[in-house]
Parts: sequence; C-alpha cells; structure tokens
Amino acid sequence: MTPSNRAYAEKLDESDPLAGYRDRFASAVSRTIYLDGNSLGQLPLATREAIAEVVDDQWGRGLVRSWDRWVGLPGEVGDLVGGTLLGAAPGQVLVSDSTTVNLYKLASAALDARPGRTVIVTDDDNFPTDRYVLQGIAAQRGCELRTINTDIDSGLSERTLADALGPDVALVSLSHVAYRSGALADMAAVTGMVHAAGALMLWDLCHSIGAVPVELDAAGADLAVGCTYKYVNAGPGAPACLYVRRDLQESLRQPIWGWFGQADQFGMGPRYQPVAGIDRFATGTPQIIGTVAVREGARLLGEAGIERLRAKSTALTSYLIDLADEWLTPYGFRLASPRAASHRGGHVTLHHDDAWRISQALTAAGVIGDYRTPDRIRLGPAAITTRFTDVFDAMDRLRQIAAERSYAELPAKPARVT
Ligand SMILES: *Cc1c(COP(=O)(O)O)cnc(C)c1O
Repeated sequence: MTPSNRAYAEKLDESDPLAGYRDRFASAVSRTIYLDGNSLGQLPLATREAIAEVVDDQWGRGLVRSWDRWVGLPGEVGDLVGGTLLGAAPGQVLVSDSTTVNLYKLASAALDARPGRTVIVTDDDNFPTDRYVLQGIAAQRGCELRTINTDIDSGLSERTLADALGPDVALVSLSHVAYRSGALADMAAVTGMVHAAGALMLWDLCHSIGAVPVELDAAGADLAVGCTYKYVNAGPGAPACLYVRRDLQESLRQPIWGWFGQADQFGMGPRYQPVAGIDRFATGTPQIIGTVAVREGARLLGEAGIERLRAKSTALTSYLIDLADEWLTPYGFRLASPRAASHRGGHVTLHHDDAWRISQALTAAGVIGDYRTPDRIRLGPAAITTRFTDVFDAMDRLRQIAAERSYAELPAKPARVT
C-alpha cells in the first residue's frame, strides 16, 4: 500500500493515539476540512461549557462578587500554559492583553534595561505587527532598528544574525516559528548567541504555542510573547501570553503603568509602585471570558500531551509534503517550507504563481487553508483535530483543482482578509 492510496491514510488514522480528541470539538460533525488551525483554532466543547458557566453563573448571578475568583486567573492560567506548553516554571507566564501590546511592553522594558545600547535587531520576514511595533519603538526613542534578511522559505540564518550583533545591540526580537514558511528557529542556540553579545532576546511564540514543544527555561530565554487563538484554540481575540524569566522580573519595568500591575492595588495610593513578580507586567482589568477559554484550550492540549501532538503534527505535515511532491509538482507547485521536519513548525506552505486563485477554489471545494503573500498557500493541519484522511482528501481536491484549472475564472485580486 502506497501513501497515495487512501487506505494508507485510513490505516494511519486507525492507529492514531490522539484520534479521539477530534470529537471534543464543536466542528467534529462538519464536512469541511479545516487546515487553518494556525490562524484560528477550533472550538473545544469544554470551552463552550466553561464560558456558559462563567457568563451565566459567575457574571450573571455572582456579579462583582466573582472578582475574588477572577482576579488571580491570568496568573493561574499563565502557570498552566507555561507548565504544559512552554517549559516554564510557575510565576513567569501571565495571560494578558494582545500579542501586539505584550510585544510593546516587553520590548520597551528590555531597552530600558540596556542603557547605552541603541539598536534593536529583527528580521524582514518577521510577522507584520512585530516589525511595526519595533519600528514604532525605534522611532519614539531614536533607536536604530536593524532588520536582517531572512529567506521567506528556509527561515532565519544564524550567520546573518551573528553579523548584526555587536556591543550596541540592546534587544533581538524574532519569531520562533515563521508565520509564512513555518521555519523553526533553534531557540537555545539563538538565545545563546544574543546573550554572548550582551543583549536581551524576545521570542514571538504565536505559531509555536501548542504546536511545537517550547522549553523557555531550558533555553535560557529572557522574554516571550504569543497568542492563544491559534493552536491553543481559545477563540478570536482571546488574551495573549507573556513570559519574563524570573530573575529578570525585578529589574524590568514595563511602560504601561496600569493599576493591575500595582503593589497594593486596592490601596489606591497616589504613586505607581510595581508589584513584585510576573503581575507587574499586567496593565488593566483582564478579559475573564477569554482567559477561561485559554484555560480550557491549554487543559485539552495538556491532556493530549505536547510531545504526542508534535509527533502527530510532523507525521501529518510530512505526509502532506509527500503527497504534494507526488501530485502537485507537475502542476507548478513547489514546497516553500523547510523539508526537514525538525526545522518545521505545525504548517506547510506551497508556492504557486496562481496561489490566490487556487486558494479560493480550494475553499469552494470545502478545504480551508489560507493565502499568504506573495504567492503562497498555507496549510495548517492542527494535530488535535486533523485526520490523515483529511490531509489525503485535501491534497486530492487540490490536485483536481490544479489539473482542471478550475481556478482560472476566479478574481485575481486578493480579498480584504486572507
Ligand atoms: C498571529 C500573530 C500575531 C498576532 O498578534 P495580535 O496582537 O494577536 O494581532 C503576532 N505575531 C505573530 C508571529 C503571529 O503569528
């Protein structure tokens, strides 16, 4: 039996130890093949119940009295995410704000902690919000933003990074898994290089959390941010995470001096005095409903186990690549992600000159992936919900679309949201 035979995929599904987790999601009955868990994860049934409880009971009946149980939630859920998904000991992860805002907070704090150094290093393939936030900080402070070139298919070059480091660099900010190609950086090696140059390292984990095992403590990481609505399945706009290594917390001060970061918050005193610990990186009133969704998403992934999820994820993406090689190469597709599973996150990107139109045709055929500039189709088979037969069927439909050129009549201009 060869991989290009559907029975091969059926066999893999039968022996998949995580197969049952699919039924824990609201969409289990849907006929759509969803390969966009790296953009917006699916709805766990437990989350629907937990949100109903927090809305009906805790808010609806408990009202303001529920703050007693809510006030510690961002730190408690931060510890859960840190322990199950990020390799972080308690007291270093907080659920708060958005990734964009957390990036601003931690990058600003890092620059203040390196007086006399005036350079921020990032790369030109970093996610847009990361590049924009760093541009803004550099403009406000009169710092230099040194942007290194990264290949959009193969990912960060450590040699290029080494050339950009020096005694003037305060902060390096990079994505652990590249949003377009899925290229996976070596966190421990890069962090070590940055430390050797005397700078602080800020990782963006948006495409890593819940997809690849992250070992922040073991890698000696300083700072990290990441969202929860992708592989953690916490829902649109759910609050993000931030990590600050414990021994750095006292010396860092973030720029948004809100009352949730204040020591003796309800003393309502005249002056801002940041509380000790990770809570000093909080700003204002936390988003409780979203934080509950982060808790449920992290519990579910923790139960499945990040190592098992990663093993299934690499099997799914490797299978997808095998089928793409065999079926799609003749139609002008080319792999735009690292071929080695050890250098890849949870998604696979394919290049094609007509990527946007093919991506629309694929959606119309019941397979949801997404399009990314300049000419790429991104397919993210989240391990907790995707079957090997889903990968087979999706690639089979893609092959049909390519063979029949059924996309040729579709609009060439990308939509507002891709
Ligand atoms: C998804 C993503 C973001 C999103 O940031 P928001 O503040 O949630 O909009 C940021 N960085 C990376 C690398 C991402 O993949």
